[in-house]
Amino acid sequence: MTKIWTNSGDSHFLEPADLWQTRLPQRLAELTPRSEKDPDGEWETVHVDGQSFRRKLPTSALAEFKEDSYRAVGVRDAKARIGDLDKEGVWGEVIFPSLGMWASTFRTPELLKAALRASNEWALEEIVPVSPRYVVTAQIPTLIVEDAVAELEWAAEQGFRTVFLPTTPHPKAPDWHRDDWEPLWAAAEAADMVLSFHVGTDPVDMASAGAGIVYRGPGGAVLNYAETTFSGQRAIMKMVASGALDRHPRLRALISEGGATWIPFLGDRLLEGYRQHYKMVRPKLSRDPKEILMTQVYASFQHDETAVAAHDAMGYKNVMFGSDYPHMEGTFGHTQDTLKSLFDGVSEETRLRITQGAFYDLFPQVPPVPTGDNV
Ligand code: MN
Repeated sequence: MTKIWTNSGDSHFLEPADLWQTRLPQRLAELTPRSEKDPDGEWETVHVDGQSFRRKLPTSALAEFKEDSYRAVGVRDAKARIGDLDKEGVWGEVIFPSLGMWASTFRTPELLKAALRASNEWALEEIVPVSPRYVVTAQIPTLIVEDAVAELEWAAEQGFRTVFLPTTPHPKAPDWHRDDWEPLWAAAEAADMVLSFHVGTDPVDMASAGAGIVYRGPGGAVLNYAETTFSGQRAIMKMVASGALDRHPRLRALISEGGATWIPFLGDRLLEGYRQHYKMVRPKLSRDPKEILMTQVYASFQHDETAVAAHDAMGYKNVMFGSDYPHMEGTFGHTQDTLKSLFDGVSEETRLRITQGAFYDLFPQVPPVPTGDNV
């Protein structure tokens, strides 16, 4: 059986748990996330930046903890990671942080800035040099616009090609549709930096029953998972309706792990709103919002059975596969089965676009996917 190689628009790395404790001055290190586990081992209390919330222990969410015969060893080891990728048929990867998923919950600008710089420096030492297949997301502080711009420009100078943005900034910062962020969009376009939003990265609601818990009761696990999807949709509709992407036509965004079929749907909704409410619409756009969404926004999916049809039947060409390595929502351990089932009976052109082409639009510096028999 021939291997189907793919790139991934959605992968993760697990930093050492003490990364921030070892790299920040003590008064800041004390504010970084700290966990107190319940004796029963199911829940923990997490303290972040002087705030506390409850969450279910996430360890079971990692394929790393599957049976020993198939552990995702590469989640903590950038060299061993290549072996996992080759086995799965994943070539280039957009790599998101793990600790950095907390960033939108930090509320102290000085802490956020120092923590994310430490993470970026660590990634430059430990992941980036290992392989040109790794597209590591730089992390930028989004409490203060000037801090975000400064870190993006620094990251671009270091060679990062994309920045990770939370789907909603902390409530102390302006939301993504506000004009306050204009300098960031201009800086990202000028530096050719892709904006990578990962679903489910809204700030933790301290009043909720637990991080990531919106619903309890029947269906809760499915409801809470599906709910994370909408954060990515909200982030990008703000970027479109506010004119941010229109004013910066070379700026491109990736929404990771939220599926892809919603893009044509959301485009229809934005277009209808724009056209039918035209008199009230501010700002006016130079292109219709659906066109902006369909051309400047890329979306990664794992298993979605309708994603290929979004490309073939709905005219949305920026559909991108993502493995979500090593999370349990992802395809680790069965990537080839998933790809074979997704692309059974599908044209080669479509398969190459979804597994390779959309990714190379954004990250042309990644070496080409191998071809031939020796792979
Ligand atoms: Mn992911």
